[in-house]
Amino acid sequence: MLAFNLAATIRHDGQGGVADLLATDAGLGSWLEENGPLASVVLGHSLDASALAVNEILRQALTGVRRAVRSLFARAVSPAPPSRADANQLLEVEAALAVLNKAADKLGTAHLVWPSDGAPASRWSGRSTDPAALLVGAVGRSGIDFLLGPDRVRLRACPAARCVKYFLQDDPRQTWCSPSCGNRERVNRHYQRKHST
Ligand SMILES: [Zn+2]
Repeated sequence: MLAFNLAATIRHDGQGGVADLLATDAGLGSWLEENGPLASVVLGHSLDASALAVNEILRQALTGVRRAVRSLFARAVSPAPPSRADANQLLEVEAALAVLNKAADKLGTAHLVWPSDGAPASRWSGRSTDPAALLVGAVGRSGIDFLLGPDRVRLRACPAARCVKYFLQDDPRQTWCSPSCGNRERVNRHYQRKHST
């Protein structure tokens, strides 16, 4: 899922800090390569990710929408605490909604298309032909669809000490994003119990 994948570009760096996968041109380039096909699905037509210029303008646009998406993820998991990666940099809900809606607005309105050899389908009219604007629009639309859809209630922030991930809970008893986070926490707690007495 495009907006979810964008939110996941902020992650634990393995040393107790937070890494931003979009901070380097190489990281941004590979994210675009991997997620171009998902953007095409949202748009209803192919987005040529190779035509996107990897530059500061695109980075700012994507990180701006990412901040909005993560701020709304924080609201979705509340009253549980949000990911600690950016808990002190979240947008107010109204501001986050405005950023996400403005991004999605770049896609224009839904038009009906009906090819002679296929079924009727919906395609965004697009307010722009600029691939960067269409990508940002696709991310915005994807974020809206996620928050309106059935997966929102499964969203969780992993509570493991050094993990900053949002994940989708597969089972109501699932606490951690992954077995490795669960194992690490069990070891930590065992260690803390042993050393606090
Ligand atoms: Zn985790």
